[in-house]
This record gives sequence, structure tokens and C-alpha cells, in this order.
Amino acid sequence: MVSWGRAFKAAIVLLAFIIVWGLIGTIIMFSGIFTGLFRQVFNISDNPPYFTVNWAALGAGTILMIIGILIIMLGSWASIFKIFTELIVEEVRKTLPSATPVTPTQTTAPTCPKCGTPLMYVQQYQRWYCPTCREYQ
Ligand SMILES: [Zn+2]
Repeated sequence: MVSWGRAFKAAIVLLAFIIVWGLIGTIIMFSGIFTGLFRQVFNISDNPPYFTVNWAALGAGTILMIIGILIIMLGSWASIFKIFTELIVEEVRKTLPSATPVTPTQTTAPTCPKCGTPLMYVQQYQRWYCPTCREYQ
């Protein structure tokens, strides 16, 4: 079980990620809007054709806006997947060793060639360790 404390910690991290992605996306979105404003996407004149559209500026502005929206959406979703997966992996890692307990077999445990103390098998390094000499055999 994921504790509430860990779940809330993950939620806070997620919130921070979403805020960051939201800021990046909003900046890009607004730069798209400003591109449209400053480049005069729509021009109204007294002479024909009276109304013209600056397609290049409109296109650039629209693309920037779409990129901004995509960054907000995909960034948030990616953050959810990332944090959710990390939480699960951490949880599995925590519960896995207890599911397969390492049974110390006293009868088969070899003794230290230097001091005769029964050696401890260290699963992490897959080596025998002497607690008295403080070294691997
Ligand atoms: Zn020893």
C-alpha cells in the first residue's frame, strides 16, 4: 500500500511539474498571440482588396499556440505517468524483498578462514562477508 504521506508527496511533485509545464506552455502560447498582434495578421485598408490576411504571421502564431497547448497537455500527462510509475516501482521494490525472504542457513554458512566467524551472505553483492574482519571473502 502506498501511504498517504507518499501519495501526497507525489501529488505535490506532480503539481510542481504541471505548474512548470503550464508556465512554459503559456509563454509559448502568448508569444504566438503576440506574433499575431505585432505582425498585423489582419489588415484593413481603404483600397481593394480591403481586407488582407498575413498568412505567414497567422500560421506562425497558430503553430506557436498549438505548441504551447501541446506542451501543457503532454507535459502534464508525461508528469503523471512519470510520477505514477516511479511511485509503483518504489512500492514494488519495497515489497519485493519481504515477499522472498532471504533465509540464513546456519548449517551451510561457511566460516571465515582468518577468524572462524560464520560468514554472512550479502545478496546485493552475492558475496560472503565477515562481520569481524569487516571484509568480503
Ligand atoms: Zn574474519
